[in-house]
Amino acid sequence: MSIAQRLRNLKDSLKSSDRMPLVFLGHGSPMNAIEDTEYSRGWSELGRNLPRPQAILVVSAHWMTRGSTLVDVSAMPRTIHDFYGFPEPLYREHYPAPGNPDLARQVVSLLASHHAEEDDTWGLDHGAWSVLKFLYPDADVPVFQLSIDMSRDLQDHLRIGEALAELRNHGVLILGSGNIVHNLRELDWNNGRVADWAEEFDTRFAEHLRDGDLAALADRQRFGSLFRRAHPTPDHYIPALTVAGASDHMDQLTFMNDSFDLGTVSMRSFVFHTA
Ligand code: ZN
Repeated sequence: MSIAQRLRNLKDSLKSSDRMPLVFLGHGSPMNAIEDTEYSRGWSELGRNLPRPQAILVVSAHWMTRGSTLVDVSAMPRTIHDFYGFPEPLYREHYPAPGNPDLARQVVSLLASHHAEEDDTWGLDHGAWSVLKFLYPDADVPVFQLSIDMSRDLQDHLRIGEALAELRNHGVLILGSGNIVHNLRELDWNNGRVADWAEEFDTRFAEHLRDGDLAALADRQRFGSLFRRAHPTPDHYIPALTVAGASDHMDQLTFMNDSFDLGTVSMRSFVFHTA
């Protein structure tokens, strides 16, 4: 089935539900934010098919903390250009959406058992704004970020997703942004051939997700040596776990942008939506 067909099916089912879908997007290179790529086109098309949320909670690979899960409670989150050596136009990008301090503080309470704390110093990193600008180009939906606590086990990130799930019934779109395979050390700059191990991890991830076997997604041992190869550090993987953790048996799963960039970065994205 083509991406267009899958998105058309998705559009039909999204209209019939008040419950917000869950979205995970593989963001890849920051250049996707300013280039017309197959990925950015996929994000735009998804945006045209998503319902309009009351607010968006973003879990980005690029806000890493240790020992606590921070929630940005600022009224106007700043646009963070957290990358180096990229072309100047990328540094001129801004995503001026407002925050939602009241809701963000409620999320701190919701995640009290996960050492959640308020923060007003972060804003929107490129994991958030580089995809949001395609999903909601008018930047008129309030948005705030949640950090990933790197000191926690992978299973804990599933549980954080589980705790966030009820927000879906209150008009909040939970958006994860990372990559299902993310190994920048082994990029194939010449011909972008997809590495066998990268494809294997990506396929196994998709199968476990489709089977609803969330425990397997968070089980490093079961992935064996594949895990470290796909994720020398797990930051880009964790947002996918948070999103998956917020899903349940009522959700239908749709994949999109399921291809690789430079051989070792999976751009696979997915949407959970209630039929
Ligand atoms: Zn990234």
